[in-house]
Amino acid sequence: MIPYGRQTIEEDDIQAVVDVLKSDYLTTGPKIAEFEKAVADYVGAKYAVAISNDTAALHAACHAAGIGEGDEVITTPITFAASSNCVLYCGGTPVFADIDPKTYNIDPEDIKRKITPRTKAIIPVHLAGQPCDMDAIHEIAKEHNLIVIEDAAHALGSEYKGKKIGGLSDMTTFSFHPVKPITTGEGGMIVTNSEELYKKLVLFRSHGITRDTSLMTRNEGPWFYQQLDLGYNYRMTDIQCALGCSQMKKLDYFLARRRAIVARYNEAFADCRNIVTPYQMPDTNSGWHLYIIQVKNRDRKEVFEKLRERGIGVNVHYIPVYEHPYYQEHGYKGVHCPVAEEVYSHIISLPVFPRLTEEQQEEVIRVVKQEVEE
Ligand SMILES: *Cc1c(COP(=O)(O)O)cnc(C)c1O
Repeated sequence: MIPYGRQTIEEDDIQAVVDVLKSDYLTTGPKIAEFEKAVADYVGAKYAVAISNDTAALHAACHAAGIGEGDEVITTPITFAASSNCVLYCGGTPVFADIDPKTYNIDPEDIKRKITPRTKAIIPVHLAGQPCDMDAIHEIAKEHNLIVIEDAAHALGSEYKGKKIGGLSDMTTFSFHPVKPITTGEGGMIVTNSEELYKKLVLFRSHGITRDTSLMTRNEGPWFYQQLDLGYNYRMTDIQCALGCSQMKKLDYFLARRRAIVARYNEAFADCRNIVTPYQMPDTNSGWHLYIIQVKNRDRKEVFEKLRERGIGVNVHYIPVYEHPYYQEHGYKGVHCPVAEEVYSHIISLPVFPRLTEEQQEEVIRVVKQEVEE
C-alpha cells in the first residue's frame, strides 16, 4: 500500500536522537530551547513553546486566551476533532462556520453570521496547508475584539502574502505527528508575539509551576517553587526536540518535494472530467500537507474502496466534526454546514509525502484515472 502520508527519517535524524540518549538530559534540557528557537525563527514569531502535541497546544492556547464557560469559539467543521475539542476542554462552546466551496477553509462570511455577544475567539485551520483568508479573519476579529488561534497543524512552511504562517495571529499551533510537515513522533508547538501569552503558555505546559522569582508571591529559598495556575504535564522531551531540530533543517526540502508532487498531480488531472483538483488561493504558497481531490459523477465510497484494493492508501480529510456521535449527543443535532457536507461527500486525499517516488506517483495517477475517469 502506498500510504497517504509518511515521515522521512534519515541517518542524521537517528544520530540526533542517539546523541540525546547519551547526554545528561532526556527531557527539559537544552534541545527544547533549541527547537523552539528554530521554529520561531523559521516562521517569524517572537516566542515559541514546545508542547507534547498539537492537541495540547490548542488546549494551552484556549486556556491562555481565557476561554471558559459561556464563551463561544468559531471554527471549521472540516478539520480534525482536536480543533474544536480544545474549546470543550476549557468549558467553552465550539460554533461551526461553513467552509468556502473552493478552498474548503472556513468562510469569513459565515464567521460573521455566527458571531454572537458571547463569541470570544476564532480558530481557523489551514486545511491541507492552504492558508485561510487571514486578512478577512483578522478584520472580523478586530471589529469584534476576538482572539485568533490558528491551527496550523498542516501549515508549517505555508505562506500567506509573502509571510510564513506563524507570526500573523495571537497564537498559532503546529503538530509534529509523523504525517505532518516535519515529525518528532508526537509533538507540538505554539508560537506567539505576545510576552504575556507566552508566559501563560509556559506555565500551563508544566503544572502551572514556576521557579521564576519575579512571578512568585514569596521566595523561601533556593529550593522554592510555586504553583500559580492549574496546568498539566504537557512537556515535550529532549529526545523529541533533537529530532525536531534535525527535521527543521530539511523542512524546505520537504516542502519543495511536496510542491513538485502536487504540480505533477495537477498536470496529470487537468483534463479529467470527474476530478476537481485543489484550488490555489492567489498570493499564498501552500506546503501541501494533503492533496485533496473531489470525485464527481462517481460514487465516492466505491472509488475509495477500489483505490484501497489496488494499493493506493487514500483517506478522507475530514468528516464534519459535528457529525461525530459525541457532538451529536452534546447539542449539535440541529447543526448543519451545507457546503461542508457537500464537499465531504466528494473528497479523497491522495498520497503526498517527500519520499513518494516518481514511479509510485505515476502508479497513483494511472489507477486514479482508471477508477474515476473510465
Ligand atoms: C493532526 C492535527 C491535530 C492534532 O495534532 P496532534 O499533534 O496529533 O495532537 C490538530 N488539528 C489538525 C488540523 C490536525 O491535522
